[in-house]
Amino acid sequence: MRIVQLRKSRLFKLVAAALCIIPLIYIVFLQSSHEDIKFSAFSSKKVKTKPQLVSELGNFDPRNVADRTGAGEGGRPHILRDDQQNDASQTLTEFGMNMVCSDEISLSRSIPDTRLAECKHWNYPEDLPKASVIIVFHNEGWSTLLRTVHSVINRSPPQFLEEVLLVDDYSNKDHLKGRLEQYITRFDGKVRLIRNKEREGLIRTRSYGAKEARGEVILFLDAHCEVNVNWLPPLLAPIYRDKTIMTVPVIDGIDFKTFEYRPVYQGGHHYRGIFEWGMLYKENELSQKEAKKREHNSEPYKSPTHAGGLFAMNRDYFLSLGAYDPGLLVWGGENFELSFKIWQCGGSIEWVPCSRVGHVYRGFMPYNFGKLSQKKKGPLVTINYKRVIETWFDDKFKEYFYTREPLARFLDKGDISEQLALKERLGCKSFEWFMDNVAYDVYDKFPALPPNLHWGELRNVASQNCMDTLGHGPPSLMGMSHCHGFGNNQLIRLNAKGQLGVGERCIEADTQGIKLVFCRLGTVDGPWEYDETSRTLFHRVHKKCVALHPQTSHLSLMPCDTVNTYQQWTFKELQPKY
Ligand code: UDP
Ligand code: MN
Repeated sequence: MRIVQLRKSRLFKLVAAALCIIPLIYIVFLQSSHEDIKFSAFSSKKVKTKPQLVSELGNFDPRNVADRTGAGEGGRPHILRDDQQNDASQTLTEFGMNMVCSDEISLSRSIPDTRLAECKHWNYPEDLPKASVIIVFHNEGWSTLLRTVHSVINRSPPQFLEEVLLVDDYSNKDHLKGRLEQYITRFDGKVRLIRNKEREGLIRTRSYGAKEARGEVILFLDAHCEVNVNWLPPLLAPIYRDKTIMTVPVIDGIDFKTFEYRPVYQGGHHYRGIFEWGMLYKENELSQKEAKKREHNSEPYKSPTHAGGLFAMNRDYFLSLGAYDPGLLVWGGENFELSFKIWQCGGSIEWVPCSRVGHVYRGFMPYNFGKLSQKKKGPLVTINYKRVIETWFDDKFKEYFYTREPLARFLDKGDISEQLALKERLGCKSFEWFMDNVAYDVYDKFPALPPNLHWGELRNVASQNCMDTLGHGPPSLMGMSHCHGFGNNQLIRLNAKGQLGVGERCIEADTQGIKLVFCRLGTVDGPWEYDETSRTLFHRVHKKCVALHPQTSHLSLMPCDTVNTYQQWTFKELQPKY
């Protein structure tokens, strides 16, 4: 009874509230569409203080950092005893990282300051915007999640930290339930926890976090990070100057077995985010042309894209771009979607050398995609890529993607009409413009792809088996196995310039045999020729043919013998049944 009554009075309140709110919504709507206009033709009239390089210690750099001793302090590797190895390997399987090791390290451990020396000497504006640090997580370990939180609290000027917003993507591990709620009470409301009602995947969970966040800036971190000395002001300063800049910290590596903290790249070189045509994320050293656009080596620089997990943006700007495409599921491609959207629609991305954040790169993904993977037919990540390229690429560039990933043509990208409408509404530029003006260095490493002359399984006529990477990484010998339709290990492509490819790798030959190798960067040429009449695969340089050894199944180059069926191969395109 009580409940019904309550509902009735709630209903009444709801109607009354709605009557008051409707005009309000209208006003807010007017204002937010006004915001859209401001963002797409952004100009800030207010002159703002720029960061300044000074001789003394910068205004937000810590004055005295206490020396600490103990396991993993100073970011040093922490090595476990032999009798702990069993437990350790069990946690490795469960979390993709050594939680026994992590659990023995202080949540407030010290890590090496990996910044360029110059970074200590920047003064940043005192009235930077406040950030909500958003950490989405699904079934993460306890100490790694909380070390992320503690490092943010310890190393951020409190006046710029609105909150740490933890967003639980429907975890089912006990330690992430009441115990977590209880633990964060010690942060006096600075750390907030919200939870998804069902598994959404990291992409939608981040969009949800952004909507719920209270800060002017949203700043995403993975749930296994450690932010470094004075990481926050350098990320906020560019956004303070221009709300359409996304800023990205330089990511250091934390070893998933020993928790050693170390830079990914040594020696003060700068890198920026690019991609290859199968939409795998890559990094490229910053060109002189870009480096010279700045006065000082520690200043931010432009980057075409970013790895995905860690970045900061003005919240309203993120939402005005429609957040992430909600049609992207779980993991993958969202970094490109947001990057292309930002650049093509008038914003920009800057990597910030003076902001360093450590991230645990795991050996493998410890979670599955749950029910979400049943919603789509075919590989989820490739479907995500297809959505992104179908929205943001021009036709010419779409063809490069389908050349590199032929099966993607058969996948259902779902409905992208909302994405195309947004692109139209924001008056976004073409992908060609983006390639010519922003991501021009992609071509240095990954030139435009010539079409495939043949692709599919490569079957030997004598054995009726197929050439196969056998799941090995390069460099390794190519092998043979039962033809099993389309797994990626048997999907081989011969392009119009003689390059034989499997995924992002290439097939070459030397005296040892037929090998899977790293493709030579900057070229799409290769030595191979396929003759459809004799069905031989000919190596132009060695002037020999690919032969299968009848007994050992070893693959090698042999003097061509066109009637020998062990030297005959057929390419067969198969249409996958999705
Ligand atoms: N994550 C999530 N839901 C998922 C998968 C991942 O919330 O379905 C979280 C995960 O806990 C982590 C972040 O998203 O904090 C990024 O995922 P992950 O670290 O596995 O990605 P990677 O760093 O390997 O690209
Ligand atoms: Mn991660």
